[in-house]
Amino acid sequence: MAAAKEDGNDTLDELLKDKARIEELSSDEEEVFKRGNNDAANVGGGVPFPGMDQLKPKRKLEYLPPWLHDASINLFHDDLETPTSEAQQKTRAECLPLLTGEDTQGLELNIYGLPHLRRQKHTDFLRTTFNKLPAPYQVVDASRPWLFYWTVGGLSFLGEDVTQYRERLIETVRPLQNPTGGFGGGHGQYSHCACTYATVLALAAVGGLEVVDRKAMWHWLGTVKQADGGFRMAVGAEEDIRGAYCAMTVITLLNLPFELPAEAPARKAGLDTFTDRLGEWVGRCQTYEGGIAGAPNNEAHGAYAFCALACLSILDVPHKSIPKYLDVQALASCLASLQTMPEGGFAGRTNKLVDACYSHWVGGCWALLQAALSGGSSGRNSVKLDDLWSREGLVRYLLCCCQQPGKKGGMRDKPSTRPDGYHTCYSLAGLSAAQNHYSYSKEGQAVDKQSGRLIAAFHWTAERPTVGEMKALKFDEEDRVGFVHPVFVLPMDVIEATRRQFAESRL
Ligand SMILES: [Zn+2]
Repeated sequence: MAAAKEDGNDTLDELLKDKARIEELSSDEEEVFKRGNNDAANVGGGVPFPGMDQLKPKRKLEYLPPWLHDASINLFHDDLETPTSEAQQKTRAECLPLLTGEDTQGLELNIYGLPHLRRQKHTDFLRTTFNKLPAPYQVVDASRPWLFYWTVGGLSFLGEDVTQYRERLIETVRPLQNPTGGFGGGHGQYSHCACTYATVLALAAVGGLEVVDRKAMWHWLGTVKQADGGFRMAVGAEEDIRGAYCAMTVITLLNLPFELPAEAPARKAGLDTFTDRLGEWVGRCQTYEGGIAGAPNNEAHGAYAFCALACLSILDVPHKSIPKYLDVQALASCLASLQTMPEGGFAGRTNKLVDACYSHWVGGCWALLQAALSGGSSGRNSVKLDDLWSREGLVRYLLCCCQQPGKKGGMRDKPSTRPDGYHTCYSLAGLSAAQNHYSYSKEGQAVDKQSGRLIAAFHWTAERPTVGEMKALKFDEEDRVGFVHPVFVLPMDVIEATRRQFAESRL
C-alpha cells in the first residue's frame, strides 16, 4: 500500500479493503482523499458523490490504533467497583485525552501526530540534578549514587557527552567507597549492592572507573554471597534478586574473578564461585503467576523479572541459562499481561496501574526473552515476541503521557505525577527497547577461555528500526533514543569501552 500511496494511484476500493491503511491516514491525507473523490464525482458536471453530504463527519477515533477505539476500551471495563477499579478508571481518564490527541498539552507534534521526544527539555531537566538539591531530597541521602546514575545514564541515552562530568563524579563518589570494598549510599554508610551497582554504572558512563578499588570490591562481594546461591544487599541485610543482578553486573564490568575470596563465608558451605547455586536460586524466585519475585515465595514484580533475566544473561549465554532455570513461556505470559489497556505502558504487578518506569523493567525484558528463545540467532529473524507485546503501545504511552509539558521537561510515571530522574532515565531506556532491536550473537560464550572470566553479557548487538517500522510505531528519527545495552542499561559503546578497559586486568 505504501507504494500505491506514493504514486498517487490509490482507489477508493483499495482504501476501503485495507482498514489498516485507513487508520493510518493523517487528517491531511484525509482531506486530499475527500477532495479527490469530490473532484472525480464532479467530472463532466455530474451529481456529486451520492449521499456524501449526509455522511456523519469522520471522527478522530477512527484514525487511532484499534486498542483506542471505543469498542475496544469498553471491552475492558470492569463493572465491579473497588478501590483498584476506581484507581484504574482515574488513570484511564487522565491518559485517554493525551493518547488520542484530544489534548496535546501544547507539545510539538511529529508527522504522525504524536508529541516529539522533548530531547532538549529532558536534557535540561536531568542537568538540574547537578545543582544544589532542594530540602525534600534529604530522604534520598542513602541513595545518592542512584541520582548520579539516573542523571548521567539518562543524559547519555539522549546522546549527551557525559564525560565532562568525569572529574566531578569521581571526587563525589570517592568518599562513598569503603576501605573494605564497595560503595555506600552516602558518607559514612555501609557498602550496599544497589548503591555499588549505581556508582559503577555512573562511573562507567563518564569513563571514571579507575577510582574503584577492584580488589577490595571483590573481597566485599564475597561477604554478601550466600550459601543458598543468592546475594544479600549488604552484610546482614535482606537477600533478594536485586543483590544477585547488581553483584553479577559489578563482577562482570570490572572483570573480577568469579572465584570466591578465601575468607568468603559461603566457602564454608562448599561454594567455590560467585555463580555456584545462583541459577537455581533465581529459578526459585519464579512464582505461580510465571513472574519473578524479589526472593522465593514473594509476589511477582516486573522489576525483579528484569533482574532475574539480566542476572541469568550474565551467568551464561541467555538461550542456555534462561530456559534452564525459568519457565520462559509462563514468564512471557505474565509479562505480556502487565501491558495495560488502553494506556499501552506497563504495570509492575498484576492489578496495578501503568507506570513509565516499567517501560524499562518490563519493556527491557523482551530482548532478553527473545534471546532465550532464539538460540543465539538473529533476534529479528527468529522467534517473534512482538506478537506478545505492543511496541507501538509503549511508544505512544511514553511520548503522549509521560513527557512533562511546559518549560520544565523530564518524564513522569503518569500524567498526574511529577517528573523525576528515575522515571526519566527508565522511560528513555524503555523507549529505546521499544524503538530498536537487540540481538544476541551466535558466537556468544559464557567464559573467556584464556582468563576464565565471565563474558556472556558482552555479545549483544543493536540494530536501528527500518523506516517502515518507524512509520508503524509513529516516531521520527529525532524521537529515537540511542542503543541501550539490554543487560547493563548503559549505552552500548560505554559497555564496550568498559570491557576493553579491564580485559587484561588481573587482581
Ligand atoms: Zn515508577
